[in-house]
Amino acid sequence: MTSKFVHILGVPFVNTSQKDFISTLQSRIAKQEKTFVVTANPEIVMHSLEDDQYKQTLAKAQYITADGIGIVKAAAIIGKPLPERVSGYDLMLDLLETADKNRSSVFFLGAAEEVLQATVKKAKQNYPGIQIAGSHNGFFDWNDHVLTQQIKNAAPDIVFVALGFPRQEQWIGANIDKFDKGVFIGIGGSFDVFSGTVKRAPELWQKMNLEWFYRLVKQPSRWKRMLVLPKFAATVIGRKALRK
Ligand code: UDP
Repeated sequence: MTSKFVHILGVPFVNTSQKDFISTLQSRIAKQEKTFVVTANPEIVMHSLEDDQYKQTLAKAQYITADGIGIVKAAAIIGKPLPERVSGYDLMLDLLETADKNRSSVFFLGAAEEVLQATVKKAKQNYPGIQIAGSHNGFFDWNDHVLTQQIKNAAPDIVFVALGFPRQEQWIGANIDKFDKGVFIGIGGSFDVFSGTVKRAPELWQKMNLEWFYRLVKQPSRWKRMLVLPKFAATVIGRKALRK
């Protein structure tokens, strides 16, 4: 029997395909079960090893998905394979599609104001069935309760939180208790991609699992952040060797 979770360096990843995970979320939305979803890449896993508070925040999530080929590869290395990547961006698109069919309500939180406006506009155009519960850019005072009150009053089915890592997980973790329902999902820079501000890697690059490399070429300033990838691989392999 395959287990429901695969632990990678202490982080429990949900053992699911993208399609099955969308069904899981859909049924939780139908039952109005409050849900915290983290779409985690190697950077998030490594950060959880270094920051105990962040690790505790991740522990509040019902589901942590494998966002990034590095996680899928690590699972294979430790002999507990995960079926595929379940990325924040793909989840956003699939959730919008199901929200369109079911006339669910959606709140958009994050990114710069122009990016946010372009995201809401495109979502309205492409998914006319969704109810826009509201939106707010990602640059706000975390101590101001107006935003959380706005979300509580709107009671959306889905809240996309695009504040980037680790802010989005911290914000959801700190505020989710205030809300009565909703799927809260951290999706990094997805609004930038959805609105066309930042291009996603061409499909061939994605298929070859080279999306990370495409990003590096396009945004060279990210190279420092990418140093975490070999460190992540070494830690996974090192811990595996220790267990033998
Ligand atoms: N962002 C935000 N609030 C902030 C910082 C960033 O809404 O205080 C947004 C930013 O505009 C971008 C997204 O978060 O749309 C992702 O940012 P970044 O590339 O830093 O995140 P990561 O790739 O680490 O998820």
